[in-house]
Amino acid sequence: MQYDVIVLGLGAMGLAAAWQLAARGVRVLGLEQHIIPHSLGSSHGHTRIIRQAYYEHPAYVPLVQRAYAGWYELEQAVGQHLLTTCPCLSLGPADGELITGVKAASYEHTLPIEMLSADEVIRRFPAFQNIEPFAAVLEPTAGVLAVEDSLRAMAQVAVAHGAMLRDEVAVQSWRREGNSVCVSTAQGETFHAARLIVTAGPWATRLLAPFGIPLRLMRQVANWFAVSDRSLFRRDRFPIFIADTQAGAFYGMPAFDARGVKIAQHYGAPEVEQIEQIDRSLNPADQAPVRAFLRRHLPSADAPLREASPCIYTLTPDRHFCIDTLDDAVVVAAGFSGHGFKFAPVVGEILADLAIRGQTAQPIDLFGIGRFRAVHR
Ligand SMILES: Cc1cc2nc3c(=O)[nH]c(=O)nc-3n(C[C@H](O)[C@H](O)[C@H](O)COP(=O)(O)OP(=O)(O)OC[C@H]3O[C@@H](n4cnc5c(N)ncnc54)[C@H](O)[C@@H]3O)c2cc1C
Repeated sequence: MQYDVIVLGLGAMGLAAAWQLAARGVRVLGLEQHIIPHSLGSSHGHTRIIRQAYYEHPAYVPLVQRAYAGWYELEQAVGQHLLTTCPCLSLGPADGELITGVKAASYEHTLPIEMLSADEVIRRFPAFQNIEPFAAVLEPTAGVLAVEDSLRAMAQVAVAHGAMLRDEVAVQSWRREGNSVCVSTAQGETFHAARLIVTAGPWATRLLAPFGIPLRLMRQVANWFAVSDRSLFRRDRFPIFIADTQAGAFYGMPAFDARGVKIAQHYGAPEVEQIEQIDRSLNPADQAPVRAFLRRHLPSADAPLREASPCIYTLTPDRHFCIDTLDDAVVVAAGFSGHGFKFAPVVGEILADLAIRGQTAQPIDLFGIGRFRAVHR
């Protein structure tokens, strides 16, 4: 069968693209090397934070607002709850990247935020301690997404709209054939389509290096702690938080279920080039920075470890996404740099626009691959 678009890699971004393309009546084939979902890439670990006062850059705000609509639409389509609202507390130096970034994004886009004193933080969220050195900003409009359920939901809706999704099929190579693209798999099959979308997550380092896209990988371990006083970590008494400390950045969220409180370090690990260099085992040293953070700022969460899960960030040099066309037949979306999941529905829309029309009305100037070529010339 001749397809209009082939999507290489069905994690968060590939499934979102397949969903959005199929919903527009496009004949789409999605190819995934593992099963959907799996825990070897970047889209696993039960939960992902979504927030609007985007400290990384105000340009993300319209995109995340569009993504909220997409998540609600997906919830309706599958009749399943995927996004749980919960405020997000940012803690850090008043002149640091996090606090100044949250304020800049909220002022530019008129988002509601609340500045809290250390006393107010502890009164509203009594699990915190020793936060006097930090400025505190609360964003009421944040939330948590169910990550694996979201992937299943996107796959379900894509298939319902006619997409063909194949798992355990690894793409080995692609080449241009006139106006179309020919994709070959490790299983010996070949497929043809007018367009190819490459959404390979951490495997993109190798696939996209020949095109001058300099991606790196970083192993990150998410931890769930079995707190003894669960009432301190209920959604009404404990927020999503991001803390910018001298020892690095940490984030966490309430105890939504029996696994307990999820807390992890953000960045702060060595960068590697290839996925084979990622240590898939769990090491006692993994918890050390998080334990030190807990002892100082959240002592009641310094509890037995119930679960831990290594996951991978795919990084661009500036930590902004990479979404662009490689040529008139191939579109890429990679380098989501540890903060991409929340955007999946709008990234799917953008990829569908780029594949079908070669352009999008969404604001993606920050994400072009030209910025890498300029640096590496
Ligand atoms: C610990 C952790 C916490 C995070 N927290 C947040 C958060 O709170 N909020 C947020 O917004 N984001 C967060 N992120 C980032 C977010 O999860 C990622 O940006 C996003 O999941 C990336 O999706 P992806 O589709 O690019 O990659 P993936 O989901 O990994 O998908 C890539 C897929 O391509 C497949 N593939 C690759 N090569 C081939 C091939 N040759 N043939 C066939 N298939 C192939 C892979 O098997 C994989 O399934 C976090 C990430 C991690 C690791």
